[in-house]
Amino acid sequence: MRILVDMDDVLADFDAEFLKRWRARHPEKMYVPLEERTIFYVKESYPQDLQPLVSEIYLEPGFFREMMPVDGGVEAVKTMQQMGLEIFFCTSPLYVYKNCVLEKYEWVEHHFGAEWVNRIILTRDKTLVKGDILIDDKPIITGVESTPMWEHILYDRPYNRDVNRKRLTWQNWKQVLGM
Ligand SMILES: [Mg+2]
Repeated sequence: MRILVDMDDVLADFDAEFLKRWRARHPEKMYVPLEERTIFYVKESYPQDLQPLVSEIYLEPGFFREMMPVDGGVEAVKTMQQMGLEIFFCTSPLYVYKNCVLEKYEWVEHHFGAEWVNRIILTRDKTLVKGDILIDDKPIITGVESTPMWEHILYDRPYNRDVNRKRLTWQNWKQVLGM
């Protein structure tokens, strides 16, 4: 069985890194706590006049490299591999890719080890990738293939709870996947 695992907000804590930097840099400005986020894209969760400041933070060098791992994620993925599952990271780089592409590779090498770099699939269209399961926090995943090969299982996040779909966290993945 091949499992595709998304990176941002599934393995690497994008939201926490953003909030940490946002609150340090703009302590006088409003912020949206994770629990109150109803919109998938962090930028769209903020008023229009603040949006340039939001993207400035996640586009700056170091942002993708310095994200902390999501609790339990690294261990879960390594356990899956030890159980004989075939794991690939399946992640979409930002359209403004300058720092993010390099730093995603660095992040995987740092938190998983150099041999896991071979398992990175970078694509803006995940429907083209073949796998049995895609674990991803994005509520709806679309692309050129209208019926992807994989089953999308949501990584549970406050902003995807309006979608009725099987969901898991790194605390309950074994039960949800029946393993
Ligand atoms: Mg994601």
